[in-house]
Order: sequence, then structure tokens, then C-alpha cells
Amino acid sequence: MFNRRKFIKASALSAGLLAIDKSSIAEVLPKKDSKAANFPIVISTWDFGIAANADAWKVLSTGGRALDAVEQGVWVPEADEHNQSVGYGGLPDRDGHVTLDACIMDELGNCGAVLALEHIKHPISVARKVMEKTPHVMLAGDGALQFALEQGFKKENLLTPASEKAWKEWLKTAKYAPVMNIENKLYQKAAPQKLPGNQYNHDTIGMLAIDAKGNISGACTTSGMAYKLHGRIGDSPIIGAGLYVDNEVGGATSTGVGEEVVRNVGSFLVVELMRQGYTPEAACKEAVMRIIKKKPETAKNIQVGFLAINKKGEYGAYAIQQGFSYAVCNAEKQDLLIKGKSYY
Ligand code: ASP
Repeated sequence: MFNRRKFIKASALSAGLLAIDKSSIAEVLPKKDSKAANFPIVISTWDFGIAANADAWKVLSTGGRALDAVEQGVWVPEADEHNQSVGYGGLPDRDGHVTLDACIMDELGNCGAVLALEHIKHPISVARKVMEKTPHVMLAGDGALQFALEQGFKKENLLTPASEKAWKEWLKTAKYAPVMNIENKLYQKAAPQKLPGNQYNHDTIGMLAIDAKGNISGACTTSGMAYKLHGRIGDSPIIGAGLYVDNEVGGATSTGVGEEVVRNVGSFLVVELMRQGYTPEAACKEAVMRIIKKKPETAKNIQVGFLAINKKGEYGAYAIQQGFSYAVCNAEKQDLLIKGKSYY
């Protein structure tokens, strides 16, 4: 039988737990028998997932819906001006525009997305409105902004002084190509343990949650690759690429160079592999291996990571390069950070 406590302990020991901030979230925890079901649970990408999970957990631990949990969870990095890869404060495209991509998917297969949305701090909530208030799945650019304003969202300048400064610095040597895998360059410079997550310039937040009823939802939100061509869209707002949820099977999300994820319809692939019986980690690994197999030379220099959860609440991740972390929050642990396994 699968023993979650042993699994978490083993994962933590083998992968190495990073220092983590103990939050007061423990106070809202329901008392739980450790042998109870593996949910509610919420998992999300990168170190900044810890803080995001904590807010999602406030919803889950009080009996709320997974959909509300993932929306509220990813609000945290979206609103964090120090996080330069998601929402407000995100690094702009090469022309200085902060353009945001996000999508959301619920347990019924409903989904919504916004692509290259400007001036709105919480693109995930606009994506949810697309899902709930329109017959469409995706809205892009000016149309997405127009819709957001009609829905009462506030128009704001998302380019913070820090991101504008970084962009102007980049312009001095600007090559008109997106900076690939910037996170790993930063990892090479500093031990990950010594930096707070927002200094890595990582990346998309992908979040997956299972609520007390066993229903699964997911959210994915990003400012995309820094200094990308204006109009470039990655994997993150594409259902099946950056995020996929099937309530019978599980959910998956991705981070890293979105072009390679789109080419392989990565998150859908991970969920379909889990349907065939793969564990979450094995499914993520297979999706990574397909990217490596198709483009071995490209893969050496880019990062792509997948994170997945199955219907039982078992989770796992796999990435091309070292340095991909993910955060887990359930009744036992509210601040568990795990280094995902990797090919290199
Ligand atoms: N996947 C995102 C994109 O390609 C960026 C990232 O996660 O680093 O836009």
C-alpha cells in the first residue's frame, strides 16, 4: 500500500528539503488522522509556490472548492511586485510591454484563458471570467483587456521600476530573441538555498489542487519569457500544454521554455500517461524524455519542468535540468518544498 508519510519523508530526504518559512496557516488546519485520504492537497511550481499554496490552503482546509483555491493561491505571486515572472512586476517583452498569459480549468472540464493581456494584475481571474461568462475558452490581447474592463477589472501599470530598469539594461545589448532558461543561469551563480524564490527570475506558477470532495482544478499564470517578441505566447495559457485537468485521472502543469511544451502538448500528455497507469513522476519524466528525444541539442540548453497529481493525491515532478522545485501543502505539511528530479 502506498504510504504517504513515508513517501514525503523519503522525497524530502532524497531530494533535500530547503529552508522554509513556517506560516501561521497551521492554525486553520483541521485535525486529521494521518491515515486519512491524500486530499485536500495543493501543489505548485517553484519556491514561490509555498506562499501561494498557503493561500490556497485557506480555501481547501475550510471545505472550499479546488477551483477557488487555485485562483486565490496564484493571486499571491501575481500581486507580488518582487516576482518578475508572474503578474504585476513581471519582466516586459522586448518593446517594454508587460503581457500576461493565464489559464484555469475545473473538475468539469470547463476552462478559460487570456493571452497577452496587458494592464490587469490578476489575469487568472480574467481567465476564470472567460470560462464562466463567455461561450469561449481564450481571449487575447486588446479583446481580453476590453473584456476585463467590462467585467470591472482595474487598468493598471504593471511595469514596476525594477522591471523597467532590468529591461533598459537588457536593451543595451538587446538581441531580439527571448532569454531562454534564465533561471538556470541564475542557479549557476548562487546556491538556490541562499536566495528567496523571487530572485531566481523563475518562471510560471502552475498550481493543482484537490478539494475535500476529491475534485481537481488547476491554474497557470505567467508573464512569459522575459524580453520575448511582442505578441509571443508560450505554453502557459494553452489548455493541454501549460495546464490540463481530467477529474477522473489527475492534473498536470508545466514551466520552462513554452515552445517545447506546446510542441508536445505536454500537460495533456502527462495526464494521459497517468490514465494509462504511470505514476505522476513517471508521467512527467516521459513527457520530458519526449522533448529531449525530439530535440536533444536544444534540450541541453533549456529548462522544462512538469508537475502532476493523480486522483489519489499522489504527486511528482520531473525536469530537463536541475533546479526545478515544487511546493506541497496538505494537512500534514503546509510548507514542503521538494527539488524535482531531472535528466541532467
Ligand atoms: N512557460 C513560460 C512560457 O514559456 C515561461 C516559464 O515558465 O519560464 O511563457
